[in-house]
Amino acid sequence: MSQIDNERHQKRQQKLKMQVDERIRQAQQERGLLIVLTGNGKGKSTSGFGTIARAVGHGQKAAVVQFIKGNWECGERDLLSMHGVKFAVMATGFTWETQNKEADQASAQTIWQQAKQMLADPSIDVVLLDELTYMISYHYLDLNEVITAIEQRPESMSVIITGRGAHRRLIDMADTVSEIQSRKHAFDNGLKARKGIDW
Ligand code: ATP
Ligand code: MG
Repeated sequence: MSQIDNERHQKRQQKLKMQVDERIRQAQQERGLLIVLTGNGKGKSTSGFGTIARAVGHGQKAAVVQFIKGNWECGERDLLSMHGVKFAVMATGFTWETQNKEADQASAQTIWQQAKQMLADPSIDVVLLDELTYMISYHYLDLNEVITAIEQRPESMSVIITGRGAHRRLIDMADTVSEIQSRKHAFDNGLKARKGIDW
């Protein structure tokens, strides 16, 4: 790098640092966050579980509610439950090819009661509501009731919601929303889902 390039680089970095410092200075609020991870691409649940692992690594208390795939194997569940993370798992293992609407609806209600208890527990730092969005799009859970439970949670608690097609009202009330777009997925080229990668 020439000296002029070096000086330009330094000036740019200085400006960037000032901007970042200013934003850090402005971020003064401290409270739990609501994070929505939606979209059709791969990476929503893994991101949610990654955040749970992050919290556990700091000695925080975390809980996970799995609204679908309850009967399926799940690497994160095996690992995190060994580290004291409480799991609530939907009994009948609802999938998108659901066969028995009434049974699914009943187990959605059952698991929601557990989720509500977690959302009201001030000792919990972060709750992952994995695949919650489908419970709302299938009308298995009442949207207003879900919103109320999230709004009334303890102030220090963060909540992460994952699933495609998140309802507009969940997006509106969230502090952070990431929409993961699918550019490519191995499945589309006939590759089978893999243990350790997909579950
Ligand atoms: P992951 O759990 O891998 O982070 P996800 O939570 O973003 O995925 P889901 O919609 O919950 O995605 O999908 C569950 C399963 O479907 C996972 O095994 C995932 O790898 C796979 N999957 C995710 N996105 C796609 C896609 N665009 N096409 C096909 N399969 C997908
Ligand atoms: Mg998922």
